[in-house]
Amino acid sequence: MRLTSCFAVFGGGLIFLATPGGVVESANLSNRASISADRSTIGRRCHAMTENFSVFSFVGGPDAEKLGRRAEELRRQLRERWLDGTHHATWPVRCQVVVHGSRTSYSHSVGRGAAQTKGSSLIRTSGGEVSFRRLDLMADGEAEPSALAHELSHVVLADHFRGNQPPRWADEGIALLSDCDHKQSLHRRDGMNALYRGEQLPLVEILTSQELRDPTRIGAFYGQSLMLVELLVRRHGSNVFFAFLETASQAGYDLALRQCYGLNGIAELESVWREEVLGSRS
Ligand SMILES: [Zn+2]
Repeated sequence: MRLTSCFAVFGGGLIFLATPGGVVESANLSNRASISADRSTIGRRCHAMTENFSVFSFVGGPDAEKLGRRAEELRRQLRERWLDGTHHATWPVRCQVVVHGSRTSYSHSVGRGAAQTKGSSLIRTSGGEVSFRRLDLMADGEAEPSALAHELSHVVLADHFRGNQPPRWADEGIALLSDCDHKQSLHRRDGMNALYRGEQLPLVEILTSQELRDPTRIGAFYGQSLMLVELLVRRHGSNVFFAFLETASQAGYDLALRQCYGLNGIAELESVWREEVLGSRS
């Protein structure tokens, strides 16, 4: 089981709050009878099912049917970009997508830590496969909640890791690449600012952190993770990148870097990363 609760951008700053796993498990869709009824209101559907998604919206919120089609499109794009076609073409159990019209409803579902986030994903696994998928999204006045692509990225990627917890930096770095260009640029800016100020996180810390407790370092973590994923994928593509993660999980990052990228461990990766990101912006 894994719950990720991601970022919100407020005034250009990044705020991250980790949400403890298990909180959402106590939530029950029956508590949301008022929003799960399949009815039309001012032409918008509050509940719709597509091949892989069961979407729950609310009266006056995003059209569930359109959102379901959009989720299918994003899922297809994410699978084409990151997965190698060896995973289920259709999920055996539909992913629940719940769009919340109020902060109260969202917080009730997501639990502690939801106050400054706009999206959350919950994944449960069983027997090495993902058995449950759910997204909670805050409506933000648009047809598509802004956190949809990011959170869906976490859910799609979970198929690749087959019940294992992916490294946080890689999971977030890939998901950030699904965000709009503006959000991505804000994350890169945070990473670069940390670097310019000498406040960047050591790569070894980025690579091994699964929980982020220091709110003053969240921006650097997200920015650096994004740029690190970009650097590695740019070098040899996503297949080698995932092979690198697999090797690292079994034999450590130093060996994985040597085998997959010809780099002499984390120290050389750090120096290559600094060179590339500073050089590209000089
Ligand atoms: Zn995320």
